[in-house]
Amino acid sequence: MMRHRYVIANWKMNLPPEGIEPWADAINGADLATAALVVAPPFPYLERVRARLRDDIATAGQNCADQEKGAYTGEVSAAMLWETGARFVIVGHSERRSIYGEGDGIVARKLALAISTGLTPVLCIGESLRARDSGKVATVLADQLRACAQPALESAGEVILAYEPVWAIGTGRNATGSMVAETVGRIREALARFWPERFTTGAPILYGGSVTPDNVSDLVAHGTIDGFLVGGASLDSAKFAGIHAGMR
Ligand code: PEP
Repeated sequence: MMRHRYVIANWKMNLPPEGIEPWADAINGADLATAALVVAPPFPYLERVRARLRDDIATAGQNCADQEKGAYTGEVSAAMLWETGARFVIVGHSERRSIYGEGDGIVARKLALAISTGLTPVLCIGESLRARDSGKVATVLADQLRACAQPALESAGEVILAYEPVWAIGTGRNATGSMVAETVGRIREALARFWPERFTTGAPILYGGSVTPDNVSDLVAHGTIDGFLVGGASLDSAKFAGIHAGMR
């Protein structure tokens, strides 16, 4: 099955130092033949970024509420993201899981709401350093995927997975290409066990964790990765474009 390839910018609670419009103008020059581009700015900037980007470069929410609407002060619903023009949403980012205490149940509800709204979810999974050191990577990832296995997946279009080892996010310490290739194999095994069959080979799996233009070639060399979720390096248009170009 032909899987789509993506390179996704996650600005987190930051803006590009070069400015939003200069960043977008630089990214608008990208050649999308090898991978699509998606940009996830903080909520208040979604429309501004959408307005400046080329139509075929998408925007994404970094998060969405686990409820449809109502008395949830400070939350932003999947439907509100859609209204800004966003067509993707990141769910289950490790910073949401660890800093804001989002458990598997919350992540599963967000996934379902994203799907029912028509947003393409980018579901983040990843192990802690302790889990890796104790040989529990496959178990942790399988548990995270099993927790999200639910009827909503039957009606989903694409679901993108982002394998983001917690110890590699924002640390400058990326997983190696061979490590990622091995782990992607474990993820596909877990998908085969717990998710509807078409996801086993059909779900794009991205890698995230200290990706830079310098380590991208090792990460793509193994041929198992369908793209990247990029945090820190995505704030610099030249670095982000360099990572995207490295997908070739
Ligand atoms: C992320 O936030 O998803 C991420 C991978 O961050 P960084 O690239 O900074 O490690």
